[in-house]
Amino acid sequence: MAATGFPDEMRNAGLSDLTAKAVDLVAEGKGRQRYEQAMKELDRSAAPDAQASGSPASESSSDGTGGWWLWSLIAVPALALTSLPTRALVRSRRTPSAIPQLVFATARAADEAGLRRRAEAEVPALGEAAQAADATTTPDLQRALDAYGAAGTVLDEARGLSDLAGVLALAQESRDALAGSRDLPLCFFDPRHGRTALRTGWRPLGRRERLDVAVCQECANALQARRAPEVLTDTDEDGRTVPYFELPAGRSVWAATGYGSLMSPLDGFHTRRSTTR
Ligand SMILES: [Zn+2]
Repeated sequence: MAATGFPDEMRNAGLSDLTAKAVDLVAEGKGRQRYEQAMKELDRSAAPDAQASGSPASESSSDGTGGWWLWSLIAVPALALTSLPTRALVRSRRTPSAIPQLVFATARAADEAGLRRRAEAEVPALGEAAQAADATTTPDLQRALDAYGAAGTVLDEARGLSDLAGVLALAQESRDALAGSRDLPLCFFDPRHGRTALRTGWRPLGRRERLDVAVCQECANALQARRAPEVLTDTDEDGRTVPYFELPAGRSVWAATGYGSLMSPLDGFHTRRSTTR
């Protein structure tokens, strides 16, 4: 993240652009490399400055740009810090500290960018697979195409992680229809965990009825050890971050379907469309 202020095009960037750049650098996997390269340049230009402190125009500042990334080193953390007291005031009733909120927001932005890229790659690949399918040997081709279309629509309108995860669930449903298989859906707790290993009974906190959900091996292990599995979160009406399945089913097609554990994502998508139109 410290490397985000280094590239030339980021010289006058605001905090949101710097954050976006940080996400890109992390995704690219070159953050450390860029940072180390910039630090080397910092060492090179700082040394002559120190020796020639009396000279009016040092090498690094003669073009007026030598110190800009130094500014960014100080300014980015400073900007982040100045925003903290405000956030702390706003959120102090709910959270003891605003810092985790900021960290979570950044991690969430990175998660979302990664998932969006994955979904954006998945949909066209699925389109090609559907196009290549033979109608005479693929009885569920129409369903595969429907799920493919729904995945594209959800991707276009996606407002966050839960929708992007829905693209994966719809894509999986489409692929299953193409293959003529009825495998278990993606993990109920977080579809990003991938294909599930088994179905199991699970009782949500504060509810009486048990749900029959499909879970990945890791989540199954967590449940067995009475640990909370890692869950995909969404935002409720009050702006709080909650497990996605705690939203009212009428508000979230993903809470209603459990990404395939409770209902087919495609059926949930159609039901939602017909009731909201
Ligand atoms: Zn899982």
